[in-house]
Amino acid sequence: MRIRTDIYPKAIRDAFATGFMFVTMPIVYYFELFIVSPRYNGVDSPAHYFHFICGTVIIFNIYANLVAIMMSKTSIKGLVLSIERRPDWRYCAVCETLAPPRSRHCNVCNVCILKRDHHCKFTSCCIGFENHRYYIVFLVYLLSGCLYASYYNLNFVADHIHFNWSWKSLIKLIFSFHTFFAIEWTEYHIYILVIIIVLLATLFTGALLIFHVNLMLRSVVTNERNITKYNRGKLENIKLTLGERWYLVWLSPWIESKLPCDGINWEKMSVKEQ
Ligand SMILES: [Zn+2]
Ligand SMILES: [Zn+2]
Repeated sequence: MRIRTDIYPKAIRDAFATGFMFVTMPIVYYFELFIVSPRYNGVDSPAHYFHFICGTVIIFNIYANLVAIMMSKTSIKGLVLSIERRPDWRYCAVCETLAPPRSRHCNVCNVCILKRDHHCKFTSCCIGFENHRYYIVFLVYLLSGCLYASYYNLNFVADHIHFNWSWKSLIKLIFSFHTFFAIEWTEYHIYILVIIIVLLATLFTGALLIFHVNLMLRSVVTNERNITKYNRGKLENIKLTLGERWYLVWLSPWIESKLPCDGINWEKMSVKEQ
């Protein structure tokens, strides 16, 4: 893995989105394992320890893959590229070089990115050839964590927050959030806010994961939806994103999983030329 050193956000919205991720996750972790779980399972029960271990494994993998996404260098910087124009190569006027097939210039990162999928605000970097694996695993763990938390949160709301579920009460609750700005926070408001954030994150992450897994299985990235020439069958397509040891990448981002292509010479990966 090539290491990216300039990991700092290059746009204000990236800084806010990435900051939101780094701040919110420990709050949700604390809420689920130090407030929700003890109320259900007791502080010293085996059930609580079990959930504590599961929750810790999930958040560890979320953070570890998040850091791996941010630390992976996906740009063309530092690579020895062809100086002769080849099929599907294009000239990037900003980078002042010929750029490989499937690469695209990112206006935020201000560099061409290998097999660029999209610029992710929540990680302040592009998702491309070298960090695509970590991104998929990150989404899987994030969705697992959100679903796990949401299941308990809905029970927690039903059992511990005595709320009269009617339209009138709901409108009253939504309008009661103005008290956040008056710094009249109560335990009740904070619990509801965390629960709403987790529910929204579940829906957002679920939609993202379905979208990206579908692209991965067809061996395309976001801007190549009609391209079929890299579609080598589902298993080979998975290896092209997750690497040869795709079945182990779920355990940790430190597990090596060699990609079957260098991200530059896509001619040999094209189905037409096999
Ligand atoms: Zn460029
Ligand atoms: Zn970018």
